[in-house]
Amino acid sequence: MDAKLNEGRPGDPGRDPRLRRLPALGRLLEAPEAKALADESGRAGLTEALRSTIGEARRALQADPRMAPPDEAALLARAAARVAEARVPRLRGVINATGVVLHTNLGRAPLAEAALEAIFAAAGGYCDLELDLETGRRGARLAGVEARLASLAGTEGGLAVNNGAAALLLALSALAAGGEVVVSRGELVEIGGGFRIPDVVVQGGARLVEVGTTNRTRLADYAAAIGPATRVLLKVHRSNYRMTGFTAEATGAELAGLARANGLLLVHDLGSGAVQPLADEPTIAEAAAFADLVTFSGDKLLGGPQAGLIAGRTEALARLRTHPLLRALRLDKLSAAALEATLALHADPAAARRAIPALRMLHEAEADRVRRADALAALLGGAATAIVPTEGRAGGGTLPAHPIPSRAVALADNGELARRLRLGTPAVLGRLHEGWLLLDVLAVAPDEIETLADAVQAAGADR
Ligand SMILES: *Cc1c(COP(=O)(O)O)cnc(C)c1O
Repeated sequence: MDAKLNEGRPGDPGRDPRLRRLPALGRLLEAPEAKALADESGRAGLTEALRSTIGEARRALQADPRMAPPDEAALLARAAARVAEARVPRLRGVINATGVVLHTNLGRAPLAEAALEAIFAAAGGYCDLELDLETGRRGARLAGVEARLASLAGTEGGLAVNNGAAALLLALSALAAGGEVVVSRGELVEIGGGFRIPDVVVQGGARLVEVGTTNRTRLADYAAAIGPATRVLLKVHRSNYRMTGFTAEATGAELAGLARANGLLLVHDLGSGAVQPLADEPTIAEAAAFADLVTFSGDKLLGGPQAGLIAGRTEALARLRTHPLLRALRLDKLSAAALEATLALHADPAAARRAIPALRMLHEAEADRVRRADALAALLGGAATAIVPTEGRAGGGTLPAHPIPSRAVALADNGELARRLRLGTPAVLGRLHEGWLLLDVLAVAPDEIETLADAVQAAGADR
C-alpha cells in the first residue's frame, strides 16, 4: 500500500489527529469530577470505566471519519454513567405477564412469604445448618428439610441437593455406577437445557439398557433385559410431553414387584413433584409408594426454591449420603431455609394453595383471573385496550397437556412497546401475538397489578 496515501488518514492510529486529541486516562483521572466519582465508587472502578469509555470513543472515531472527538466533560459523563450502571444489579425483577407460571427463564417459582422470611433469617446470621442444638455436636445437614420431605412423601427418609438434575445424577452414581440401568424407550426424555436421560445415565457411570418401543413398553420387556449387571430400573415421568394413542407402559407397582424379585432398585425420576393432585400429574406420594427413590425439583410444582429432592428408603438413601458427589451437589443454606419453609406449608394443602404463589396461580378459579384482568384494564383505561381469553401454562416442563383458562389485556404493538416494557424497572415480559402485546394475568400477583399498569403507562401505551 502507498504510504503517502495513509498520512493523516482518519482512523489510522498515530496519524489521525482526532485520536491524538482524545484526553489521556491520567488526565481524566485528575479532573475534579473524576475525584468526586472516585470517592463515591472507588478509584479502581472509575479507572476501569474511563478506560472502557476512551476505548469506545477511539473505536467510534475510527469507524466514522467525520465524527468530532468527544471532549473531557463528555467522556467523564459517559464514564459516570458506566459506573452508575455497574452498581445496578444485573439480576432484575420482572413482572411475568407471559401466562406461564413456572417460567424457566424467569426463575421458575416465586417464593412464599414464609420462605422469604426464612431466607432473611438464615442469611444475615448463623444457623444450625450442621449442628444439633440439643447435644451441641455436629448434626445432620438439613435435618429439618429431610424430616418434612419424608413426611410429605410418606417415605422412610429424604435428602435434598442442588436441583432435580443433580438428584438423579447422584442417585444413579450411588446406586448404578459400574452396572446397568434399564429405561423404557418411551421415557428417554430431554428435559431442556441439554439434560437428556441417556447422558445422565452415562455420566452416572452406568450403562443404559433401552427396552420396549417409543410408544409401548411392557413389564416383560424390562424382565427380559435384566441380567447380572443390572442395578436399577429407572422410570422417568414424561413431565414435559404426553403420549396418546396406541401406548402402553408398566406401572410403578409392576416395576416395583419386578425390581424386588430380582434384588434391584426402582428409581422414579418424577421431575415436577406435585404434592397435591393437579390435572393428570402423579403426586410424590403416589410415586413413592412403589419406588425405592423418587427424585423431583424444588421449584416446579412444589413451588419452592431451586433444589433437587430425593425421597425414599433409608438403605438406598444411605448410599447417596456417603457418595462423594453429594458434597459437590449440596444445597446452600439459603435454599435450604426456603425449602424447609415451603415444605412446612405443604403440610396443610389448603394453606399451601393460599401461601405458595405458584400453587395459588395454578389452583385459583378462572373468575379470579378475570377479576385481575378487569382491574388491569380499568387502570389502563382507553379504548385501545381489550381483554382476551388466553390459554396459560404451568410451564417449567410440567403439565404439558393442561391449558389454564386465563385472560390477557391486549395492547396494539409492533414490538416497540414490548421492548420498552422489557427494559423498564421493573421489567415486564408479555407475549407478542399478531400485532398485539398480550399481558396475561395468570402469573401476575394481585399486588403487582398496579405496578404493571404504571409500567405500561410509563412505557407510553396510553399515548
Ligand atoms: C425438570 C426435570 C428434571 C430436572 O430438574 P431441574 O430441577 O430442572 O434440574 C429431571 N427430570 C425430570 C423428569 C424433570 O421434569
